[in-house]
Amino acid sequence: MHARFNRSCNYAAAPEEKPLFARDIVRELDAETPNAKERGVEFQINRALTYHPNITRKTWETRIVWDPALKSVAGQFRTKICLIRLHPGLKLAHRFHYTETFLHELAHAMQWYAYGKCDHGQTWYEMMHILAMKPERLHNIPECKDKVEIIKVMKVADEFKL
Ligand SMILES: [Zn+2]
Repeated sequence: MHARFNRSCNYAAAPEEKPLFARDIVRELDAETPNAKERGVEFQINRALTYHPNITRKTWETRIVWDPALKSVAGQFRTKICLIRLHPGLKLAHRFHYTETFLHELAHAMQWYAYGKCDHGQTWYEMMHILAMKPERLHNIPECKDKVEIIKVMKVADEFKL
């Protein structure tokens, strides 16, 4: 049994920050998916959670932040505060990359909630499999690469209120 297993998630949002949760990202991703209720990302996650019903609430309530400070990765899950950081470039990247990055990080969150682990080992593979994803590490996403691009993305995001 891992000592960290039941550690609570104590991420405190800045007062001006509108809290964002995994379910909000899924709503956005599924908005563009035909028949989203049947076969969208929400379906994918709910199906996966039938294997681990005890982590359902925590999974949907995983906090998300768009973080321009991410430099060489498109996403990251932080265990102690149960927070997924996503690179703002994903908003401009192909929807496939956005979905893939989000689910990759959500698999880490689920792995953490169910097993107290966060790595690319067996329990991460399991979560990726039940999410119907190939357990591959992410490839480079051009939109998430360099700083200049990030600044541009943030401006576009501001204009369009992404
Ligand atoms: Zn990873």
